[in-house]
Amino acid sequence: MNLKKQTLLRLGYSEYRPLQEQAIDALCSGRDVLLAAPTGGGKSLVYQSAGLIRPGVAIIVSPLLSLMSQQVELLNKKGIRAKFLNSTLNPGEQDDLIWALRYEHIDLLYLSPEKLVQPSVIGFLHSFELALFAIDEAHCISQWGGFFRPEYSQLGQLKVNFPNVPIVALTGTVDKANIASIQQSLQLSDCLVLKSSFDRANIHIQIAQKKKAKQQILYFLHHEVPGKTGIIYCRSRKKTEELASWLRGLGLPSRCYHAALSEDEKQQNHTFFAQQPGTIMVATTAYGMGIDIAHVRFVVHLDLPNSPEAYFQEIGRAGRDGKPANALLLYGLQDMLQAQQLVTLQSSSSIIESQQLQSLFKILENRGCRRQNLLKHFDEDSVPCGHCDRCLSSKSELNMTIASQKLLSLIYHTKGLQPFATLIQILLGKKTKSLSLIKGDTFSLFGKGKEISESQWKSVIRHLIAFDYITIGKSHIFNVHINEKSRAILQGKSQIIMPSEHYYPILQEEQLST
Ligand code: ADP
Ligand code: ZN
Repeated sequence: MNLKKQTLLRLGYSEYRPLQEQAIDALCSGRDVLLAAPTGGGKSLVYQSAGLIRPGVAIIVSPLLSLMSQQVELLNKKGIRAKFLNSTLNPGEQDDLIWALRYEHIDLLYLSPEKLVQPSVIGFLHSFELALFAIDEAHCISQWGGFFRPEYSQLGQLKVNFPNVPIVALTGTVDKANIASIQQSLQLSDCLVLKSSFDRANIHIQIAQKKKAKQQILYFLHHEVPGKTGIIYCRSRKKTEELASWLRGLGLPSRCYHAALSEDEKQQNHTFFAQQPGTIMVATTAYGMGIDIAHVRFVVHLDLPNSPEAYFQEIGRAGRDGKPANALLLYGLQDMLQAQQLVTLQSSSSIIESQQLQSLFKILENRGCRRQNLLKHFDEDSVPCGHCDRCLSSKSELNMTIASQKLLSLIYHTKGLQPFATLIQILLGKKTKSLSLIKGDTFSLFGKGKEISESQWKSVIRHLIAFDYITIGKSHIFNVHINEKSRAILQGKSQIIMPSEHYYPILQEEQLST
């Protein structure tokens, strides 16, 4: 039996998965590897195996201390010589460790990133033979993508300090730009990039229009996931608290989680959620990384995530056990405009962030299967899933070219300075006070858009924004304009075909008891 197989058996498995084997072979030949696979994809076995096969000690870094100590405990039970160097070691324990390393009694050494980049530790590591460096949660080194951890920033120096020690970077990120950024930050210019499928077939995606969001949530909780455990994501801390207490008032067990809670409160709420089946966690995205609770059955988004990647990771917290799970996202035109404004007005935010938001809009507004559209964004081919809202409905598609022409020409004639709500009022011929102020009824298009409803007009606007027919100006005041792409619509050179949309149903509080 060869060493690779022997090692596999020592670790308690009978077969490598294909991607694991490719990664291990590359590492054993001394090559750097970047492995992107979803949580649960079996990334640990790669560095554990290659670390044991190669001579010397393997150095493993992760930002999640609890996870490291768990792994070490598990490995020790299997008789593997693994150790966790945390900052709480007393001098005596440190001496023992140095002794153990010197006499080659350790195969896998787990460290925090802060520890690894200390000059004394770097110097110390130079005196031993090193099998490899494994950088877990490697997306934490990327400056953008929203996962950055300052303690990761110096890990890029590893390649310079130890040019002959192979590095394996492991990440659960799917986005190719994110993956490229990890590669660059860790200076892995010639690494083997391996990406496994991120398809999570057990998650049933629904994306629908928001109207009376709380009552829509009630409908979902009552009719689709009664008694189930799940997470509701909102943007604002206040909203998480309010919604959680509203749900409790209705007799639904609920907790909240956001960055401004004390460490004690966070821990308590997390523990309650993890241990009491049927609890609803209302959280900001602060509730995320490292949370691996198998029985989460649903994830709801009451506000838009920042990117396709964030959306994908967040819905991926449901159904970790592989059993069916539900993801519901509720949004409307207002949410899109607000999200865009947030990105535009934050001086720290970059062009990439606004591009990512725009990509999310396209996924939300696109025709066809939800999951297929999402995976396509990550360059993954798939077939229609058969159980998202699109696959399950026979909803038709609508030709909205004429409506789009009316709207675009109205934007042109109002010089893009009137809010969408006003434009819709003009098209519907509403005689409101705000319209009389701007002499809305003098526009030739006044009342010329009554063939579709207000909510359909909003759908048209969302679609035109998502697919770049309307450019939104980057300033504090509302200003939008038409562009080359929309001129083609106005000239009848291209068409707007969009899915017909629906509002998610509602359930009133009073109806709950019946
Ligand atoms: P990740 O680090 O990618 O989130 P893990 O390394 O924690 O994933 O592995 C997830 C699960 O898959 C674990 O329960 C692990 O025991 C199992 N696993 C990994 N590789 C194999 C394999 N080759 N055969 C069987 N089970 C495996
Ligand atoms: Zn589908």
